[in-house]
Amino acid sequence: MVVIGGGGSGLAAAIAAATSGADVVLLEKNPALGGTTARSIGSITATRTPHQDRLGIIDSPEEHYRDMELFARHVSRPDNDALRRLLTDNVPETFRWLSSLGVEFFGPVEEPPHKKPRMHNVLPNSRAYIFHLERRARRLGVRILTNARARRLLVGAGKVAGVEFDQPDKPGQVVHASRGVVLASGDYAANPDMKRALISDAAARTEPVNPASTGDGQKMAIELGAKIINGDLFGGGVRFAPPAKPSWISRLPPSTWLMRPANFALRLAPLSMVRRFIMGFLTTVMVPSHELFDAGAILVNKDGERFADETAAMIFELAYQPDGVAYILFDGAVAEKISKWPYYISTAPGIAYAYLGDYEKNRPDLVYRAETLDKLAPLMGANPAKLIETVERYNQSNETGPSASSLPARKQRPELRSEPFYALGPVKNYISFTDGGLAINERLEVLDSQGDPIPGLYAAGSVGQGGLLLKGHGHHIGWAFTSGRLAGSYAASRKET
Ligand SMILES: Cc1cc2nc3c(=O)[nH]c(=O)nc-3n(C[C@H](O)[C@H](O)[C@H](O)COP(=O)(O)OP(=O)(O)OC[C@H]3O[C@@H](n4cnc5c(N)ncnc54)[C@H](O)[C@@H]3O)c2cc1C
Repeated sequence: MVVIGGGGSGLAAAIAAATSGADVVLLEKNPALGGTTARSIGSITATRTPHQDRLGIIDSPEEHYRDMELFARHVSRPDNDALRRLLTDNVPETFRWLSSLGVEFFGPVEEPPHKKPRMHNVLPNSRAYIFHLERRARRLGVRILTNARARRLLVGAGKVAGVEFDQPDKPGQVVHASRGVVLASGDYAANPDMKRALISDAAARTEPVNPASTGDGQKMAIELGAKIINGDLFGGGVRFAPPAKPSWISRLPPSTWLMRPANFALRLAPLSMVRRFIMGFLTTVMVPSHELFDAGAILVNKDGERFADETAAMIFELAYQPDGVAYILFDGAVAEKISKWPYYISTAPGIAYAYLGDYEKNRPDLVYRAETLDKLAPLMGANPAKLIETVERYNQSNETGPSASSLPARKQRPELRSEPFYALGPVKNYISFTDGGLAINERLEVLDSQGDPIPGLYAAGSVGQGGLLLKGHGHHIGWAFTSGRLAGSYAASRKET
């Protein structure tokens, strides 16, 4: 059996298939395994976990299934109910399986509208998934080829029977797959052509978190008659630039012998210590919250000009600003607000909130402060006169009605007048993932345009999302590992051809 992609879903598929006795080759185009999975926060949402049991939380896949609908109803299209059922029924087993491989989790924590706490976070970071799964795959004899980019699916006797792939020194190699091929090659957040065709021009111009998410699996399957569902859906938004040096938390080794006692200590530690641990992580992930703009902050480009309604859900205009970057600008009154609840800069839902003081301490490189706007402007590389004019215009704009200029009005937000002034940034728009997956059935087989399975072709993770709406935290990772596990065992149980 051949697996294309060495992220979460691909490794899960390879392990499940090898455990069932299949001879597995895994192709990964990057020099190392990991994919978007290793760049994620790493939360996974599941019920009936030992962690829930320990806290006496009575929960079930059925309740999880119903709560997922509360997230999905904000999306104006139907969910794939069969795949949602497949996820919620099987993710408890996936969670136990990951734990049995040595992955440690913290939690569960609340995430409304889930009615029960069921979001768990991997310790110390998402690279732990790859560390433990790669180790298991190698022990089971999975042949892992890195720098191996799958280019084309090969068909023989009406079935997908192999893969053509390139390695830097050896292009045009072929690997035969008598039990079929599992596509686990992630999404197309880094493919401008696919994003332009399926989402928008602004999305096409927006940087991906993972440059390897080029939609190869989707393209290879489309050549065989498959189709993409929900191609226009994606996750992303404004984020702070990552730190020049990775944070201490992202450098922690993921080994179980270290993480198990750390997890135990976290459960018993005073809240202030847990908060310190979480802060190192929160100010690294760094997605500015909407509360920040509701509190009165505005967004200016690097010339010091305002360009969008910063309270909108997605600020597409950022893609068209110089260098695609902006700064979050606010005054002393807003600074006071975002120093304590209920306003904050970023959050890991249900776990902790990061305030201005946390950013000043953990990410001083992102915080600029000056008594006046003309002193602040050069710190962020903006023109002082332009920045002063921007703030004046904003202050004078109508409080409720439409703005006199083409810029969005201030609405109900306060004027920016009290010294000192602050700029946080730079921020950029990022596409974290796209949600357009191939149409599949409940056996994870890829379907053609008539709805019939393409024999020998399976898909898991983002490339096999099949119209499943994965809103809320922890569902993408849950789907990657669950669908990978199932696709691997279904493919392995296929009769060899
Ligand atoms: C910043 C961020 C935070 C996130 N946080 C969370 C979270 O906390 N919880 C959650 O549920 N989800 C989260 N997600 C989403 C989640 O990480 C992904 O949806 C999930 O990891 C996708 O897994 P995958 O196996 O489908 O793809 P990937 O992990 O991307 O793996 C695909 C692999 O295929 C390889 N590949 C691609 N093309 C080829 C080819 N032609 N040949 C060979 N190999 C190929 C890629 O290099 C990659 O290694 C987050 C995403 C981001 C960007």
